[in-house]
Amino acid sequence: MKISVLTIFPEMVESLGDWGVLSRAVDQKIVDLKIVNIRDFTRDKHRMTDDYPFGGGTGLVMKADPILDALDSVRGNKRDCHIVLTSPSGEIFNNEKAIELSEYSHVVFVCGRYKGVDERVMEIIDEELSIGDFVLSGGELAAMVMIDALSRFVPGVVGDMDSVMSDSFAKGFLDHPHYTRPREVRNKRVPEVIVSGDHERVDLFRRKESILKTAIRRPDLFLKAEFTLSDKKAVLELLRERSHDVE
Ligand code: SAH
Repeated sequence: MKISVLTIFPEMVESLGDWGVLSRAVDQKIVDLKIVNIRDFTRDKHRMTDDYPFGGGTGLVMKADPILDALDSVRGNKRDCHIVLTSPSGEIFNNEKAIELSEYSHVVFVCGRYKGVDERVMEIIDEELSIGDFVLSGGELAAMVMIDALSRFVPGVVGDMDSVMSDSFAKGFLDHPHYTRPREVRNKRVPEVIVSGDHERVDLFRRKESILKTAIRRPDLFLKAEFTLSDKKAVLELLRERSHDVE
């Protein structure tokens, strides 16, 4: 998969390809990460990427032409890429959107700065995406967050896709708690069932924890979740435990 990022701060985004699973994916050419400096597409001698807003007011606006030219350069003759503008006005990015973006052969992120980009860039933007209801000083961190999340769904980026699909949201629930060695930390022991060696009981315990956590912390997710047979068995077990409590 190809991912391009248009920015005036390329060094900031380049670090993405230096660490963790994404760096391995870049080395193995599973992800082709291309960082494009918008300033290389300016035509004036001061290489300006921003200017004063028409109509007055505070702040600077990113000029349309350098961004449009940079977009033309990454698209080339191919028009099969999906262009995302990072923006607080966009739809809020989530796991489903990460999966959807991971299925394109080429996704391009445009990073705004200052007050944002000249509105006329919109004509070639496929969608605007936000990473939450707050304002960042630039789109770079937002693009980096989205790239990290979407690339986990590109086959081969994370060695084990089952692991990705068992993380929060992938199947509609929050993840269950995890434990590692040693068995006892500051007088807190790992729940006995986890070290019982009985895989069926371990699975049931994890499903129950996951379902309970989701219901309590994220009722919005819980109401939307689809229950598999093993989820239903876990709910039954929870109800059984509850009825013992009442007795
Ligand atoms: N004037 C704009 C804010 C511009 S912030 C407004 O009030 O909506 C500068 C740039 O940072 C934006 O163009 C965008 O690229 C990026 N940005 C800021 N907050 C963001 C968010 N929550 N999600 C994604 N990108 C964001």
